[in-house]
Amino acid sequence: MMPGLSVVCSAVIVLFGAVCSVFIFCEYLIYYAAILQCGWPGIDHGAPAAEKSADGQPNAEVLRALVLSDPHLLGAVGGHWFDKLRREWQMERAFQTALALLRPEVVFILGDVFDEGKWSSPKNWEDDVCRFQKMFRHPSDTELVVLVGNHDIGFHYEMDWFKLQRFEKAFNTTSTRMVTKKGVNFLLVNSMALHGDGCPICQSVEKQLYTLSRNLNCSLLQHYPLYRVSDAGCTGRDAAPPEERHLLFREKYDVLSQEASHRLLQWFKPRLVLSGHTHSGCQVLHDNRYTEISVPSFNWRNRNNPSFILGSFSPSGYGLSKCFLPEESTVIALYCSTGASLLLLPLVVWIRGLLQCITFCPISKHKSL
Ligand SMILES: [Zn+2]
Repeated sequence: MMPGLSVVCSAVIVLFGAVCSVFIFCEYLIYYAAILQCGWPGIDHGAPAAEKSADGQPNAEVLRALVLSDPHLLGAVGGHWFDKLRREWQMERAFQTALALLRPEVVFILGDVFDEGKWSSPKNWEDDVCRFQKMFRHPSDTELVVLVGNHDIGFHYEMDWFKLQRFEKAFNTTSTRMVTKKGVNFLLVNSMALHGDGCPICQSVEKQLYTLSRNLNCSLLQHYPLYRVSDAGCTGRDAAPPEERHLLFREKYDVLSQEASHRLLQWFKPRLVLSGHTHSGCQVLHDNRYTEISVPSFNWRNRNNPSFILGSFSPSGYGLSKCFLPEESTVIALYCSTGASLLLLPLVVWIRGLLQCITFCPISKHKSL
């Protein structure tokens, strides 16, 4: 074989191997690399509970709950096919890797499952639900609990019984209910039905809430955050960008109304509040007593560093930790540097060939004399 050809062959093989390795890392292994760094927290709020039982096994009394929010699966109208393909692949890999490594017993999704549930046709709705079920498939010993968000059924003025009931049917849920596992209570609330204007859905939800209000030892889960003025007090690497933190929230659109927030806190005195909707992380203390965690969006379309919450719960206490997924900028940088190497390698091979020619040419010239 000619020496030049063997160099080209080797270069092609190295290049192909490098591209395959980068692809496999960026599309599969990177999720393991990120999620392997996460673990279930100990219980540090309320009465202490051992993480492990006497025989070293995970404490069977402690419930392991994974909480994520705002996956926003793109719809048929506003979503570009490549955007949809890319984001859904990322979320599927992240979720499946988290399930495999962390084995939660219950997963809560805090609403805005879809981007266009509020207006999608029956055909598009079925298609979106099928894709969701494939992405968020889970073993039978993990329960998936889905809450309703404004993008699933519309804001209060867009919401109707048809949209609410098709959501409830698709996810086998009801607008407001108490989920109890291992003696731990989670109150799930339809935030869009708390306008307090006496609309039929609002009346139905308030009636259910009133019935449940005697149950005090619960965590409150809903899509909208409780009322807060803005995200100005939020800190951390996934808080809203500094230029957005001081924007004032609108009651009933960005956050619950003051009146509904006050009522929920007084009725239930929740030991913890978990909410979504803002797409950014935040921890808020209401009335110097009630802790609320805003869970950021799980979709890379909404932020560079999505995450989910890991919660260890017992009837008397809980602990939380946050698990960050790979940053999209890292993945893009890896692909760009591989692409740049792809372009540079032919240049290196050409320069090497040129150098060989320069050393070879004077000898041949000498021989011809
Ligand atoms: Zn929302």
